Amino acid sequence: MSNDIDQSSDVVEESVDDSSIKFSDLGLSAEVLQAVNDQGYEAPSPIQEKSIPPLLEGRDLLGQAQTGTGKTAAFALPLLSLIDANQRQPQLLILAPTRELAIQVAEACQQYAKHIKGINILPIYGGQSYTIQLKQLKRGAQVIVGTPGRVMDHMRKGTLSLKDLRALVLDEADEMLRMGFIDDVKFVLEHSPPERQIALFSATMPREVKKVADQHLVDPVHIKIASKTVTGANISQRFWVVRGTHKLDAITRILESEETEGVIVFVRTKTATTELADKLSARGFSSEALNGDVPQANREKIVDKLRKGKIDILIATDVAARGLDVERISHVINFDVPHDTESYVHRIGRTGRAGRTGKAILFIAPREQRMLASIERATKQTITPMELPTVKDINESRVARFKNKLIAATSDEDLSLFTQIIAEMQHDQEIGVEQLAAAALFMAQGDTPLILDEKELKANRAFVQDSDSRGESRGDSRGSRPRESRFKGEDREYRGGGVDKPAPSIQPTALNKFPDLEMARYRLDVGRHAGVKPGNIVGAIANEAEIESQYIGEIEIMDDYSTVDLPADMPKGIFSILKKARVAGKPLNISIYKGETDGTEKDYSNHPKPKQYKPSKKSYNTKRDRGEGPKAKSDFALKKRKDRKKP
Ligand code: AMP
Repeated sequence: MSNDIDQSSDVVEESVDDSSIKFSDLGLSAEVLQAVNDQGYEAPSPIQEKSIPPLLEGRDLLGQAQTGTGKTAAFALPLLSLIDANQRQPQLLILAPTRELAIQVAEACQQYAKHIKGINILPIYGGQSYTIQLKQLKRGAQVIVGTPGRVMDHMRKGTLSLKDLRALVLDEADEMLRMGFIDDVKFVLEHSPPERQIALFSATMPREVKKVADQHLVDPVHIKIASKTVTGANISQRFWVVRGTHKLDAITRILESEETEGVIVFVRTKTATTELADKLSARGFSSEALNGDVPQANREKIVDKLRKGKIDILIATDVAARGLDVERISHVINFDVPHDTESYVHRIGRTGRAGRTGKAILFIAPREQRMLASIERATKQTITPMELPTVKDINESRVARFKNKLIAATSDEDLSLFTQIIAEMQHDQEIGVEQLAAAALFMAQGDTPLILDEKELKANRAFVQDSDSRGESRGDSRGSRPRESRFKGEDREYRGGGVDKPAPSIQPTALNKFPDLEMARYRLDVGRHAGVKPGNIVGAIANEAEIESQYIGEIEIMDDYSTVDLPADMPKGIFSILKKARVAGKPLNISIYKGETDGTEKDYSNHPKPKQYKPSKKSYNTKRDRGEGPKAKSDFALKKRKDRKKP
């Protein structure tokens, strides 16, 4: 599979833009522009700057971009600007590979279209009841955001008509291919008006996606985010996976325990700069916001304060921190992921100035994992995973800082008045020096207790408000679901889009460092004779049971049944959904795989490792293929595979 789009002459190679193009320069409708302002976006991201004008002109577009680049707004803002809200028929259809993404994109569209009167945006996905969807479709919606299978179902039933469709977006086309939706996508393409505009976005450009583009896009604009930058070796880089713990909590712990001087924290929106600055100030860190709304004179004052150590933390947007040169910046914290690798390089280049060493920390949600891999490739450096400091770490560094302050005071300050007071008290009150010193330290700690206890930390966390960036709230809303953290955070795998063959190996990335998951093998009641392909199974499981595709492991198709590796401790509800879910017209009727004893398959009942093992997909597809990983595990995986071959 190639990761590169054709380098033809009309490819627009993107880079961080210094020309300060504004959203208002791009020709968006007044309503959409107002919504963008409400979002607090300061400037268009590179992909937005390049996509919005041609999409507004009605041109087709082929964009190689991943999550985090701002691609949703890149297509939604112009295409929503072109909607005629007086007409109730679907005019814009956005296809996304998973219900989760469909919901997210629909939510984003809702935000961007909130000032367009009479507009209705409808998400349609597998797993939701047809009755609800039918009712909503009858009411009419100008914008449909859906998963390919369910959209196709409605088209076939005649409950969704695309006769007035003017634009079609294929979001994460490579992922739709991976999940076996290519035929459904082709169906939609072939059953929509031939003159409709198409925008196809894909993180990678496998042959099949290119083929769809070649067949259906007319003279498209090509847009690609280039990744060609290298960073200085004097900056150490770490990443922390946003999972469970809140980002504000995480940054607090980091600021408490790391030896920092000046710190720049990067967020995406103007609103986030001020909110985070307020929250950190409330937690006792001297911080200020720097964004494009800050007048130049003030900006200089703020930077000067940072330079002189009057403040330690600056919360900035990319635009506002451009070219900022302050030697004492020891840390750059990417609180929100950057839109592209070059922004990342610009950001972290704010530290490690004048021959010093610097530290960069990246907060990254599992969904944004591709960006992490891109950054590693672009910077040609490894970004190492980091653990959050524990309460013990925080307390140790608090005590160390306290001691250092005391030591400094003994040499730097005139203490004669205080030594005299101690002498008097010793004499008058008969209190020992040690006790007096301890009492003085107690008073010196002020309102914030020197030692943090776990309970207090938890209590703080409960009251923390979310930052307004959509990326973060996405992570959090998903994180709040029970067990959700078990269902995210692994690298995606190619499972053969509808092709019944073993998956090829994937490239090792930093994501291989994400924790492994206990997997189990399950049996499904549908097999080759029913016409099932791996992609259908992935699609059904992902969309009906809401399991992210990266948690769906090895799939094997036998004549009358199939097996699939899924997380071992799936909630009961998910299990029963999977029992009823249908593929090729038959219920999956999922059960724990116990091996087959019907004579046509080998008997696994004496297998040394029944039911559960850890983790199947990596041993099969990555580490084993690369000859890495624990030997016993790969041998086991190999053996299983061999044994399963039909006699
Ligand atoms: P996406 O790549 O579409 O998943 O978007 C990633 C995140 O970037 C979302 O949280 C958006 O709200 C945010 N975003 C999109 N465009 C901009 C922009 N121009 N400035 C700041 N944030 C943006």
